[in-house]
Amino acid sequence: MPLIKMTGEQAAVQFMEGMREVAAAATRYRDEELFGALLKMARAAASQGVAVEPQGGQFAPCPVCDAAPGRSCINVPGHPVRGDFHPERVELAAKVLAGEVPPP
Ligand SMILES: [Zn+2]
Repeated sequence: MPLIKMTGEQAAVQFMEGMREVAAAATRYRDEELFGALLKMARAAASQGVAVEPQGGQFAPCPVCDAAPGRSCINVPGHPVRGDFHPERVELAAKVLAGEVPPP
């Protein structure tokens, strides 16, 4: 298969566009297996030096309100949601993408 001519920067942009499109589909169809697959691809890409956007916390379930991957957080007494996600979830998602903790 011939190599497609693309700069590293263009490839990274295309990769993240594809990840966002698949994440949108996973959210639309509430498909947790698809989020698991996205997490694998993101971790593999990150291991090769691709800067992967953590996308808030959507790749991880929430340790505060138990929201599943792809779903927004809900307010819990004493734990206000900032944007769509709890800060604890955003932190967890970043650690999972960085390979510091295993996927929950
Ligand atoms: Zn939450």
